[in-house]
Amino acid sequence: MENVDYIIVGDGYAGLFFAHQLIKNNKSFVIFSEGRKSASQVSAGIINPVVLKKFTTFWKAQEQIDFLKTSLKEIESYTGKNYLIESPIHRIFHDENEQKLWLKKSENEELVNFLDKNFGHLNVVKNDFNSGKVNQSARLDVNGFFTGLFSFLNEREQFINEKFDYTQLNASDSTYRNFNFKNILFCEGMGVKDNPYFSNVLVNPNKGHQIKVKLSQPIPENITIKKKHFLFPINDGLYFYGGTYDREQLHHHIDETAVEQLIKGLSEFYPYDFEVEEVNFGFRPTVKDRRPIIGRHPEHPNLYVFNGLGARGILNGCYFSKSLYDFIEENIPLHEEVSLARFE
Ligand SMILES: Cc1cc2nc3c(=O)[nH]c(=O)nc-3n(C[C@H](O)[C@H](O)[C@H](O)COP(=O)(O)OP(=O)(O)OC[C@H]3O[C@@H](n4cnc5c(N)ncnc54)[C@H](O)[C@@H]3O)c2cc1C
Repeated sequence: MENVDYIIVGDGYAGLFFAHQLIKNNKSFVIFSEGRKSASQVSAGIINPVVLKKFTTFWKAQEQIDFLKTSLKEIESYTGKNYLIESPIHRIFHDENEQKLWLKKSENEELVNFLDKNFGHLNVVKNDFNSGKVNQSARLDVNGFFTGLFSFLNEREQFINEKFDYTQLNASDSTYRNFNFKNILFCEGMGVKDNPYFSNVLVNPNKGHQIKVKLSQPIPENITIKKKHFLFPINDGLYFYGGTYDREQLHHHIDETAVEQLIKGLSEFYPYDFEVEEVNFGFRPTVKDRRPIIGRHPEHPNLYVFNGLGARGILNGCYFSKSLYDFIEENIPLHEEVSLARFE
C-alpha cells in the first residue's frame, strides 16, 4: 500500500489550485484525471474583478485578485513558467448612458480601483462610444497553466491518468485500491453527479461555447476586448471569442445556435472577414446563490467536496482552495456563504 495525505479527484481549477496548497505545505498526494478536456481547459482565462453588465463588483474581489497573483508567482517558482498575461479588459460601450454609468460607478469606493476613468478608442474594431479599461484585470494562459502543472505532477509521479472508480473506495478504511489516504477531495465539476457520496450537491450545469477564429485584420495584441463576449489573441495567429451561457441545451455535442450567436456577436463589432477554425464547449458548475460549495461529508469525515466555481473558476478556485486547506488542516471554520452546510 502507498500512504498519501490526500487523493484529489478531478484535474480542473479546483483540483489544481488545491494541489498547489498541498505542494506549498509539503503534503503528499496523487491526483486522478480521467483525461477529458475539462471546463477549465476550455475556459477563456479571464481574471476580472468587475461584473461587466452592470458595472458592479463582487464578494472579496480585491482579496481574490491579490491572492491569485501571489499564488501564480508561487506556482511559477516550481514549474518555471509565468502564466499571468497582463492584458487588461477593454469594455466597449454601447451608448452614452453606459459611459455615464461607468463614470458614476467609478466614484464608488468598491470600484474606484477597478474602473478606469479615462476612456480609450480602440483600433480596428467598432467602438463609436469608446471603451472603458478594467484596472487589475488580466488573463491566465490557460493552455500553459495546464500543460505546465500536468507535466510537473507527471514528473513527480503524482498524476494518475485514470477515471476514479467510486466502487473501489472504502471510506471507513480510508483506502482506494493500493492507496491509504488521510483525506480525499472531490473536485469533479459537473462530474460530481456520478459521485455516490456527493451526488446531491446542488450544482447546475451552465453550458458555454467558445470559438477560435482567424481574423483577416489583426486586433491590438496586448488587450482583451469585451463586447457581448471576450475577444483576445491566443497562439498560432488565432483569436478566442466566447463564451456563451446556456442552461437549457445540455447535450454533449456542439450546439449550432450557440456558434451562430458567437459569429453574430463578433460580426457586430469586428467589421472584417474572419473564419471559425475550432469550436469547444464545457459545463460550468453553477450554484443558485453564486457561491462555491466546500465542505466535509456528514458521515465520512475524511471525504471533502470542492465545487460550484461557476463562471469564475480561476478566482474562486484559487482563493477558496486555501479556505478549504485551512479548514481541513487547521480547523479554521469555513465562511458560511461557501460552506456545504448552508444547504443542510
Ligand atoms: C466556455 C467557458 C468559458 C469560461 N471562461 C472562464 C473565464 O474566463 N474565467 C474563469 O474564471 N472561469 C471561466 N469559466 C468557468 C470555469 O471554467 C469553471 O468555473 C471551472 O472550469 C470549474 O472548475 P472545476 O475544477 O470545478 O471543474 P472542471 O473544470 O469541469 O474539472 C473537473 C475535472 O474532473 C474530471 N473528473 C470528473 N470525474 C472524474 C473521475 N471520476 N475521475 C477522474 N477525473 C474526473 C473531469 O474530467 C474534469 O476534467 C468558463 C467556462 C466555460 C465553459
